[in-house]
This record gives sequence, structure tokens and C-alpha cells, in this order.
Amino acid sequence: MSYCVNCGVELEESEKNCPLCGVEVINPRMPYVEGAPRPYPARLDPINARMNRRFIAVILSIIIAFPAVLTLSINYIYSGEAGWSAYVASSMVLLWFFIVPLFLWQRLSFLRVVIPAVIALAGFLRFMEYLNPGSGWYLKLALPVLCLVAVPFAIIGWLIEKNKLRSYYAASVIMFVMAMITFAVEFLTESYAYGSVKMDWSFYAAIPLGAIAAALLAIARRRSWRDRINRRIHI
Ligand SMILES: [Zn+2]
Repeated sequence: MSYCVNCGVELEESEKNCPLCGVEVINPRMPYVEGAPRPYPARLDPINARMNRRFIAVILSIIIAFPAVLTLSINYIYSGEAGWSAYVASSMVLLWFFIVPLFLWQRLSFLRVVIPAVIALAGFLRFMEYLNPGSGWYLKLALPVLCLVAVPFAIIGWLIEKNKLRSYYAASVIMFVMAMITFAVEFLTESYAYGSVKMDWSFYAAIPLGAIAAALLAIARRRSWRDRINRRIHI
């Protein structure tokens, strides 16, 4: 019996290299035998992995559904309507959309996770307005703020995933977008709350963010700076 000198896995004489880590097998007492039967599967079973993910999705769905169904039925039995339990149930639906899609997709991607979560959040907020009608905060404030945050970050995330936006450039763009979002959020909240707009606090947040964005952009454009920083922080 041989053992891998690198990872310690047990090896048969059929292996020239460790099937786990690829390190060469050297054991003078048990040399490599070409053509000896291999005890390891040739490939991992993808169906099994898929079933496991689906199983996790089902278990999580049951765990999330349980408090929703329980509170809805208790509330309905005692008062004949879904009053307070509607909050619990809708929160659980939102939670489901945040967690379970991670296990439902066979191939995960940024947008596949973010889009359902954002749509669910928009629906959740709309439902909250339905439960507490008045003032029109959903269309005037909640939905625009959600779109303002979600759309740029969905685009940035997608670009990073596609490797079109990298390291310091990506960080710089994120800081810049955050600065822009701060202005937009203050604009929306001011016009919603007072009907007129007087910008103040967003400058305090946006100016440092903009400065960091500019510094990151400068680093991204200069190779020597980038190398020096990477060496300092060991990447
Ligand atoms: Zn090994």
C-alpha cells in the first residue's frame, strides 16, 4: 500500500499520480503497474450532486414554509383572517427567494440569484403597502430606491463575473456608483418627504466615496503602484 506524500490519500499500484492532488507516486516497494485495475471512479457523478442540491432546496423550503403555514393557520383559526400572520408569511416568501434559488440552479450565476431576489423584494414592499395603504411611499420612494441600487449593482456584478471589470477598476466603479446612489437617494427622500429638494448629507457621504473611487482608478491605471500595493497586502 502506498500513500500520497502530499495529501495522504491511500493509493493503489494502478496509480502513477495521486488521483486526488496529482502528485507523482514514488514507492520503490510497490512500483506502478501499468494496466492494473483502477479502484477509483473515472468521474464524479453529476446526477448525484444535482439530486443533493435539489434535496437541500426541498428541505429549506419546508423549513421556511413551516412558520408561515403555522402562523397563518393560528391567526385564521382565532380571528378568521390573516392579519399579523400576513407579515410573517410574506417575510418567509421573501426569505425563500433569497436562499432557495442558490440551490435550484444547476449553474449559478450572479444575475440568476440577484434578479429573483430583487423582484421578490419589490413584491414584498408592494405587499407591505397593500397591508398599510396611504401616502404612496411604494411608488414614490421604495421602488425607485430599490431600482437605483439594484440595477447598477446587477450590471457591475455581471461585468465582474464576465471578467470585463477587474480588481481596482471594479472597486473604483463600485465606489463611484455608491456616490451617485447617495445623491439620488437624498434627492428622492427629500422630494418625497418635503416636496422640495435641498441636498446636504449626501455630499458628506459622496465626497469621500468619490475620492476613494479616484484613488482606486489612479492605482488601476499605474502598474507600478498596483504591484507595490499587491506585494504589501500579499495578493
Ligand atoms: Zn495526493
